[in-house]
Amino acid sequence: MIPILPVTGTAPAPTSSGGDSVGLWLKPGQISLPASPPLSLYVHVPWCVRKCPYCDFNSHAAPDGSEIPEAAYLDALRADLEQSLPLVWGRPVHTVFIGGGTPSLLSAAGMDRLLSDIRALLPLDADAEITMEANPGAFEAERFASYRASGINRLSIGIQSFNDEHLRALGRIHGGAEARAAIDIALRHFDNVNLDLMYALPQQTLAQCRQDVETALSYRTSHLSLYHLTLEPNTLFARFPPALPDDDTAYEMQDWIEARTAEAGYRHYETSAYAQPHREARHNLNYWRFGDYLGIGAGAHGKLSFPHRVLRQMRYKHPATYMAQAMAGNAVQEARDVDAAELPFEFMLNALRLTDGVPASLFHDHTGLPLHAIRRELAQATDKGLLDPDPTVIRPTELGRRFLNDLQEIFLKS
Ligand code: SF4
Repeated sequence: MIPILPVTGTAPAPTSSGGDSVGLWLKPGQISLPASPPLSLYVHVPWCVRKCPYCDFNSHAAPDGSEIPEAAYLDALRADLEQSLPLVWGRPVHTVFIGGGTPSLLSAAGMDRLLSDIRALLPLDADAEITMEANPGAFEAERFASYRASGINRLSIGIQSFNDEHLRALGRIHGGAEARAAIDIALRHFDNVNLDLMYALPQQTLAQCRQDVETALSYRTSHLSLYHLTLEPNTLFARFPPALPDDDTAYEMQDWIEARTAEAGYRHYETSAYAQPHREARHNLNYWRFGDYLGIGAGAHGKLSFPHRVLRQMRYKHPATYMAQAMAGNAVQEARDVDAAELPFEFMLNALRLTDGVPASLFHDHTGLPLHAIRRELAQATDKGLLDPDPTVIRPTELGRRFLNDLQEIFLKS
């Protein structure tokens, strides 16, 4: 559950991802990047057993309950990856994230094949972080031992709540007991586990929120992602909004979570992410530091840098269309050159989510623009008390973290 910028805008849209278009992306442009940012790989698996009413991800109910067209999809992913290689030629891949959807619907053999294909085609670091998302409602013990043996070394489990009533309200396919059983299985095979939890749920009280977080903390997993439930457009919850806790209660929950996770030894290092020392999510950190990522799979987004431009891509969204297009040689529905004027906002949208911010030099390194291009905005944010005045870092103050939208908006091009 990582927010990724949509591919939108008015720039001309070359539509091929393959070798033909590489020359286009290498042409002179408005920016000058000193080097390529670190590269990650995102793989999207677009099916779930059932669609949750709050979910705006590209996820579709599996055609036959938990049966998915696995072999055909893996063929399409391989074809997509092969078509993408000219854009990332020779660049090492530091992290892989297999997300969805529900990737744990893939069989053990299917996951093994996917990882073999990735290793065969990309120069994956020997110590690459390889994360897979899993849903407690699609969790079989033997499968998880095999996933680990295939090379997955981090699990992110979509728990959301341990409370049966709230899980029902969220339309989840699992109950609290299954959530606990899934964590037990995960910890038998993995030492790097994230639990996704949501708060400010329909009718949730502060005491119930505390109970959920205390249960999550009791497992001492390396990482927690604690999200405020939001009603996203184009979801069932947006059409039929449930009764949610008022803002004061939600703030109380947030403050309590902040204090309690710190007391338990977790560092709140990003808006929704909490980690034990040195266990931050490396893949997500690369997004927040405006690193590069190749995204393959239905509806996957990607961001790739070239010496004089930044390219954003989006694959065809619907699984059947994506599979057909990937096999026909073009999985990319939209590709666009990000205008230099938009890069500061895109960079800040990510970097300002980090409690420690980023070194100021990273702005030039990852946007190819000089830092003085945003000197007025930096001064304005600092004057308002939203940004740390230290010129060597770009770091939100506590006030800036609380009013993150206001801080980010300062960098929106007028
Ligand atoms: S399981 Fe996750 S990805 Fe699937 S519908 Fe529910 S929230 Fe969306």
